[in-house]
Amino acid sequence: MWCVKTLGPTKLSRASPEAVKLLLLCGILVLMETAFPQTAAAGNAARVEELASDPRVARALDWLAKNVAWVNDEQVHITEIPAPSFLESARAVYLRKLLSCCGLRVRTDDVGDVIAERPGEVAGNVVLVTAHLDTVFPPGTDVKVRRNANRMAAPGISDNSTGLVALVAVARALNEGKIKTRMTLVFAADVGEEGEGNLRGMRKLVENYGDRLRYVIALDGASTDHVTAAAVASRRVEISVLGPGGHSWSDFGVPNPIHALSRGLARFVKVRVSSEPRTTFNVGAIEGGTSVNSIPDRATIKVDLRSESEGELDHLEAALREAIQAGVDEEMAAARDRGITGREPNGKLEIKLRVLGLRPAGELAETSPLLAAVREADRYLGNRSHRERSSTDANIPLSLGIQAISIGAGGRAGGAHTLSEWYDATGRELGLQRILLTLLGVAGLELAPQK
Ligand SMILES: [Zn+2]
Repeated sequence: MWCVKTLGPTKLSRASPEAVKLLLLCGILVLMETAFPQTAAAGNAARVEELASDPRVARALDWLAKNVAWVNDEQVHITEIPAPSFLESARAVYLRKLLSCCGLRVRTDDVGDVIAERPGEVAGNVVLVTAHLDTVFPPGTDVKVRRNANRMAAPGISDNSTGLVALVAVARALNEGKIKTRMTLVFAADVGEEGEGNLRGMRKLVENYGDRLRYVIALDGASTDHVTAAAVASRRVEISVLGPGGHSWSDFGVPNPIHALSRGLARFVKVRVSSEPRTTFNVGAIEGGTSVNSIPDRATIKVDLRSESEGELDHLEAALREAIQAGVDEEMAAARDRGITGREPNGKLEIKLRVLGLRPAGELAETSPLLAAVREADRYLGNRSHRERSSTDANIPLSLGIQAISIGAGGRAGGAHTLSEWYDATGRELGLQRILLTLLGVAGLELAPQK
């Protein structure tokens, strides 16, 4: 049984509580295997060979290997349609067209996600494959692709045109192979993964498919050397301090929002954060004021807080709020010392906090059939990968206990989120075949028609 194989000898030799957990787990897995015989079996080491040698799957794998030129051309088309977060609609229209060509019924939901369903044998069990439509680049960015054989360069060429074109290629390969799956497959090009998009596309998909959702595979970027199976939690906040403002000479003594924020930040950046679980902070933007000889009436910072633990993130956010409050109190005290007391509202500062984004944490169990499926695909294809933690579309399902991973779609890339982003398609078929085998590993092939 795969539960024994997956856990391996080190965990089996551990103390008895582990053994009890293992027995419980195996019990659950036996139940799962009864419910989805093809699916659970796909995690078994012997099954990936069986899967890949099925003539339908072999045809699909072969199609992916032989149509890399088409995939490369479509990647260029996708990249050259600008898609900043919140402005993804033109690119969504093109993805809709590409997915319709795969014989799929395609629709767009009310946040702008393009969704193509491929019904399986078992109603009510869905494997969702996604790639985000949006890029970090603002409107007006030159997205013309410069191409030299397999190498392409343009903002967004890899993140996430690689994922988007793989979504279409895999859907098309399933059609070319005339593959029918046990579970229903849903291919979605989703909005709002980057920046202040706050994963709104993925949130909507998870909300819509609800408890039918068994597995989520998010395709993001190029590389095949990792499996993102744990989500880093993040909170992004904007904090403004507002004050009366005034003349630098004649109103000296009035509390200054920039001084207050500076005092607060000087405290906050000294906060000690945990390295295990890893926790980080970044003050990424600061603005305020109008001229050198004016006391500003406003100062604003944008702060990104991240942690592998929600609890650590709570502490860090509390520390940020306390530090800024202390900075404001200190500046007000200084104003009072300068004789501003009693001249309210001139002596007043106000803090405003706006949440820009929240990404919850979560982690895929080591015993997940989805993890087993991607590892089996890797073993079969001779690919080496490691497990990693990141902040991706997979955050949302992982935080809700839905099995999810984020993987790259093949080839090599660099310069993500910069104007010099590049992509090299050499060997990309490996990434495409890896997605197909992982997907079929969990979705299962339809039971062979009776003869
Ligand atoms: Zn991305």
